[in-house]
Amino acid sequence: MTNRVKLSLIVPCYNEQDNVEKFYEACVEAFRGSVPDFEVVFINDGSADETWQRLLAVRRANPGAKIKLVNFSRNFGKEAAMYSGFQHATGEYVTVIDADLQQQPRTVVEMVEFLDANPDCDCVAAYQQTRHEGGVMTACKKVFYRLINSVSDIRFYPNASDFRTMRRPMADAVARLTEHHRFAKGIFSWVGFNTHYMPYVADARNAGTTSWSFIKLLKYALEGIMSYTTFPLKLPLYLCAMLCAAAVICLVVALAASSATWGWACFALALSAVQMLALSMIGLYLAHVYMEEKKRPICIERDYITYEEALD
Ligand code: UDP
Ligand code: MG
Repeated sequence: MTNRVKLSLIVPCYNEQDNVEKFYEACVEAFRGSVPDFEVVFINDGSADETWQRLLAVRRANPGAKIKLVNFSRNFGKEAAMYSGFQHATGEYVTVIDADLQQQPRTVVEMVEFLDANPDCDCVAAYQQTRHEGGVMTACKKVFYRLINSVSDIRFYPNASDFRTMRRPMADAVARLTEHHRFAKGIFSWVGFNTHYMPYVADARNAGTTSWSFIKLLKYALEGIMSYTTFPLKLPLYLCAMLCAAAVICLVVALAASSATWGWACFALALSAVQMLALSMIGLYLAHVYMEEKKRPICIERDYITYEEALD
């Protein structure tokens, strides 16, 4: 019926010269027998090392293998690399996986088997049940998930990673989101579909070092919050309401006690409330413009059944 490959792997690579070959070998090893029909889309994200040459070597060493290579003109970041991967991946199932072997191709086999066995499930996402990181980092991540879940309309699953395997309709939906400020965890939640969360244990990096510093993570977290809520733009409206309430209290006291001081306090608060109202108007319009500018699809259809189709 379809000549799609069964599985596409999207692999962002930044300074992974000592990992890409081992990664490909691990894929061949893991998928032999279980998922023989797979393609790998490597995206070299402007690496400063020999990653691109090593990728070409992998390609040369495996003639006939389904390996796609994308070479960015500079470092655009993992989000851009994933976006590019979604544009080139054509498989029935699409997996996002890191190149450093912290996430193992054999786990992808489990994801594929789960999707095969559960037709109602659209995506299997891996999350780290236990993380080998400091207490401060764990606490920061907890605060981040609490904050973003309280102000955003979509749900962010704590500790869910980008490491996931999804069916073609969900991959198509992700590829349709062309916003520049990208936050994959948000995009995966925003497009919807039924996601099963599967615990996994991340291995140590095979070679090289992580490119995520604490500051970079902080910026990324801010990107996530800003991309998925316009709550800060609506804050002046809440402040306006609070100032109005305070002004009314001052007015009541001023009238009851015939106090000019309370009267002036009421006047000052009411004036601030008017200013906040003006600011909130700007904020509310800006919030609309901001969300419109992303040009996200209005809706995403998971199923569509016409009257020509017979249901069993
Ligand atoms: N990566 C990328 N572009 C970047 C930074 C990272 O493509 O600017 C890739 C990197 O090669 C790896 C994945 O994103 O395959 C995750 O990066 P890393 O291992 O540094 O992050 P961590 O596992 O520590 O979260
Ligand atoms: Mg890593």
